[in-house]
Amino acid sequence: MKAMVLDRLAPIETRPLKLKTLPTPGIRRRNDVFIEIEACGVCRSNLHMIEGDWKNYGSPSTLPVIPGHEIVGVVKKVGEGAWKVRVGDRVGIQPLFSSCLKCDYCKAGKEHLCDDAEITGESVQGGYAEYIVASEEFVTPIPDSIDSPHAAPLFCPGITAYKAVKASEPAKGRSVGIFGVGGVGHLAVQLAKMEGSRVVAISRAKKHLDLAKKLGADNAVAYQDSAEQFVKALKKDEGLLDSAIVFAPSENAIDAAVKSVKKGGLVVVGVVGNIPNFSAFDEKTIRGTVIGSRQDMADLVKLAAQGDLKVVIETHKLAEANEVLARLKKSEVEARAVLVP
Ligand SMILES: [Zn+2]
Ligand SMILES: [Zn+2]
Repeated sequence: MKAMVLDRLAPIETRPLKLKTLPTPGIRRRNDVFIEIEACGVCRSNLHMIEGDWKNYGSPSTLPVIPGHEIVGVVKKVGEGAWKVRVGDRVGIQPLFSSCLKCDYCKAGKEHLCDDAEITGESVQGGYAEYIVASEEFVTPIPDSIDSPHAAPLFCPGITAYKAVKASEPAKGRSVGIFGVGGVGHLAVQLAKMEGSRVVAISRAKKHLDLAKKLGADNAVAYQDSAEQFVKALKKDEGLLDSAIVFAPSENAIDAAVKSVKKGGLVVVGVVGNIPNFSAFDEKTIRGTVIGSRQDMADLVKLAAQGDLKVVIETHKLAEANEVLARLKKSEVEARAVLVP
């Protein structure tokens, strides 16, 4: 099969992904399913891993590696023990490739927190390829109403946005600021609106603020590098917020979010980053969030199938992965780029 393979960590401008022909993976375990990939989303996490930003977190744990963890394809073969998924089904794979299914987290339905979880495209081979083999326990069926390129982003930005919005305790009459309106944020804007929240989109790029407004944001405020300056502008334009969600991968943005919520407010952090200033006496809550469980995934796909969630994508060929990631690095991708083999 053809795949875009990373042999060594390097800046994306050096085109570190190479198009190679590799042996097509086969079914190894009873519950495995063999999937012909139809689409794979291009995630900022892929970029961080490729450039070595996440070496200290042990990602990737294996090289060479095929990146990509927002995968949709059609099941072509199943193992002899498979019963949940059939040949011909269209399914998606999220970053959580598998977990032990035995520990306390797994038993509590929080398998995305499992210490023995495998991560798609980081600890196991991912979706910048023509085929992949996964366990039927960790794939999610996709209804016919969503095509594969639009379904793929549900499997990382989608579930990330869904979980983070839930964590922000959305409700009618409560405001939520969404810091960062890209692949994840453009979905969070819509999901928070569906919950009745007043949504304030915050981004550096005018293009992203316009997109957020088009997707239903009640207000859009331009992000500024000085947290103090930004909060001043926010207070004038909108007032302090009940809650905030941070998807912009910067310590500065996290700091600004903490300062943007009222006393007693809630900040949901969905990115890797430090929290530089925190005053206990403001009684603020900071909550971390990471992808989501298999149940969250199924719930989101169901919601998306109803047709109210607009997934904004652009599609590219598999061989163009380096160029697409380079554009993502420069914030030139409007919402989500998807590779189609
Ligand atoms: Zn991702
Ligand atoms: Zn576990």
